[in-house]
Amino acid sequence: MTQTPPDLPMRALFDAQYRASRSQIDVPLALRLDRLQRMRALIDVHGAALAEAVQADFGVRSLQLTEVADFFVLRALLGDLEKHTGAWMKARRVSTPIYLQPASAHIQRQPLGVIGVIGPWNYPLQLTLGPAATALAAGNRVMIKPSELTPHTSALLAAVLNQAFATDEVCVVQGGADVAHEFASLPFDHLFFTGSTAVGRKVAAAAAANLTPTTLELGGKSPCIIDASCDIASAAIKIAHGKLLNAGQTCIAPDYVLLPRGREAEFEKAFAAAVVRLFPTIGGNPDYTSIVSDRHHARLQSLLSEARTQGARVVEIRASVVEGAHTVAQERQMNPVLVFDTPSGLRLMREEIFGPILPVLTYRKLDDAIATINTGPRPLALYWFGSDTGARDHVLSNTVSGGVTVNDTLLHIAHDNLPFGGVGESGWGAYHGETGFLRFTQQKSVLVQSRFAMGSLFYPPYGKRFDQV
Ligand code: NAD
Repeated sequence: MTQTPPDLPMRALFDAQYRASRSQIDVPLALRLDRLQRMRALIDVHGAALAEAVQADFGVRSLQLTEVADFFVLRALLGDLEKHTGAWMKARRVSTPIYLQPASAHIQRQPLGVIGVIGPWNYPLQLTLGPAATALAAGNRVMIKPSELTPHTSALLAAVLNQAFATDEVCVVQGGADVAHEFASLPFDHLFFTGSTAVGRKVAAAAAANLTPTTLELGGKSPCIIDASCDIASAAIKIAHGKLLNAGQTCIAPDYVLLPRGREAEFEKAFAAAVVRLFPTIGGNPDYTSIVSDRHHARLQSLLSEARTQGARVVEIRASVVEGAHTVAQERQMNPVLVFDTPSGLRLMREEIFGPILPVLTYRKLDDAIATINTGPRPLALYWFGSDTGARDHVLSNTVSGGVTVNDTLLHIAHDNLPFGGVGESGWGAYHGETGFLRFTQQKSVLVQSRFAMGSLFYPPYGKRFDQV
């Protein structure tokens, strides 16, 4: 294990990892588990400081949210990797067709080499350390480029990873878009990107120049269908929770609702009650995260002013009078907003919202709701609420999305055995569980000829041997 100074230029860090990955291709289970243990210890020892760094980056974001959404998920992932890596890294024997017998065949699972991980700001620990841990379990070296929008977190992450790992095992490169572009242009063996669809296109283009395969975990507009058979009160709190976790700054947050026409008042009332139950106050409530930056806050406000100007009905849910006295704007905490009667073509319905604004569209027939979804890019997540299983199956069979949770929101991401990823503009490639392990693994095909093989059916001279084929 050679220690390379962490402040080396990015290319030198890459070269050191590249050399190390080529000099030790067969990475034993004990070393993989040791690396996972070091990752676990890092979270145990530095978790509190990291959560405080996240809080400092957002303004308001509770330490408990980081505990649940980042560390709980990471500990579960590490547990899964520690439990299964030994089995997942083993070769798989496969049956051999009659015309190749008595040869045998197997698939050997090997590390790819050096993995690049580019992370977003919204869950800055889970979405950098999670892919990194999975890549380490698969025997790789990892370079991480965390988001420049969470500078406290990124700096601390770099420091603690540098203590726990040699830089040719794991290292961190910090910086904004220029650094990120240079990072994406390195000839990684695989580049794992989590972020927006627009930047995902740039990442894919930069990686293509090196024929570097990518996983793109992107965003988009995830619909939430309320079926006619749905108990709206019980759905509303689940939708409010999924939407307002991290103030809507979650890739799989419900982006908009499709509601049976005529039930708008019922939904509005139930959603407002759910908000008050989850967040009795907004301003000053540590559970209600700030919008990450002034620029992001201004973008959300501009979506709302366009909606108002174009005649939409914008309902701001003021959770309590207390928030009126608090410096809500100063903290960039933004009240939840429902938008009804949305004219078509609004930016609100063209862009991923990524904040606490929830447009509510209405439909007459379920197939109209399905058509609305199918006219847009394929979503990262889809939510369906109701008790009519026939209607549920009709929606599941006639829409394509990265994942689905039925009668709740967000939860499919937390299931180890479900691959997580997008489709089309919401991304490509998936991870979590064995799918994630295989993402960072070369599955090498090996055919072993038998010493009893008697010449070959396929050698010339062919004569009339294949005339009947
Ligand atoms: P972003 O695309 O703006 O930035 C993500 C990362 O890309 C940052 O580290 C940034 O520095 C880097 N970057 C910027 N320009 C680059 C370039 N030219 N080349 C390479 N990298 C570049 O995304 P964000 O604002 O940090 O995150 C929000 C977005 O991420 C939303 O769209 C959200 O839906 C998506 N997201 C997706 C998932 C998922 O798992 N699918 C999870 C979280 C967030």
